[in-house]
Amino acid sequence: MGFHAKHLLGIEQLEQDEIRVLLDLAERYVSLNRGTRKHSSALEGLTQINMFFEASTRTQASFEIAGKRLGADVMNMAMQASSIRKGETLIDTALTLNAMHPDLLVVRHPHSGAVNLLAEKVNCAVLNAGDGRHEHPTQALLDALTIRREKDRLQRLTVAICGDIAHSRVARSNILLLGKMENRVRLVGPPTLMPARIGEFGVEVFDDMREGLAGADVVMMLRLQKERMDGAFIPSAREYYHRWGLDAEKLSHAKDDAIVMHPGPMNRGVEIDGTIADDINRSVIQEQVEMGVAVRMAAMDLLARNLRAAKAGNPERMA
Ligand code: ASP
Repeated sequence: MGFHAKHLLGIEQLEQDEIRVLLDLAERYVSLNRGTRKHSSALEGLTQINMFFEASTRTQASFEIAGKRLGADVMNMAMQASSIRKGETLIDTALTLNAMHPDLLVVRHPHSGAVNLLAEKVNCAVLNAGDGRHEHPTQALLDALTIRREKDRLQRLTVAICGDIAHSRVARSNILLLGKMENRVRLVGPPTLMPARIGEFGVEVFDDMREGLAGADVVMMLRLQKERMDGAFIPSAREYYHRWGLDAEKLSHAKDDAIVMHPGPMNRGVEIDGTIADDINRSVIQEQVEMGVAVRMAAMDLLARNLRAAKAGNPERMA
């Protein structure tokens, strides 16, 4: 039992035990982060490079803080949107960076699968910070930690994931993680925003919010991914809010103690009512951000341990 992965590319590759190990370690980092001295030496001497080919606020800041708290040398690369169009460019960038001997590479990219491709070309540990509509593993892990802390368990819960499922890497990673941990996952949203072959995911699908939320323990709202839409998927923002936006009335169909989540950035008045987002009795959105730092510290710590072990076992391989 333990965490064996070389990279964190997606939830798909993780075993149940690896998820538990990571969340347990993250829990220890939550305590560290709440103290006045927030430093540990887990990544001392290591170089972390953050490459974000797509805009990010929370995730990039969170990875940067996480690396700094663990003592890594952290470098943020400003990636130009114009230089990412061709596959060759990405691989060239990867090889250039590889020559500088980074230990951890944190990558966000608009194309699904780009981060996996990059991981094949480098010697260091790669963390996927979101690739297209494919996966966003640290988001699902921080969501899992938030749920586990709020509900005291991560099994046998009914979780309603609502909104733009089709374009959301957050939805995909959460469906995989919650499924692996034996929860009941419901997807709620307009049929135009449901992925094809959704039946293969082992989830229940609803287009009516009241039915989808009935008896839910967790209500996870998603942003409309307009940047990934190549046509009209919703009638209008107003109509969307009316039918699928989370307001007090729709939330009243979930359990009385249901928590409300959102990965951010939020469109108040489109997918969620601002009053609910700010309701400290229901919304755990700020806690999600806090857990994000702890989960990313745990992920980088575990990958660094595996990296060091591989290097000790075979110094040539990692040279
Ligand atoms: N921040 C999340 C992501 O990068 C969710 C979103 O952008 O809607 O996927």
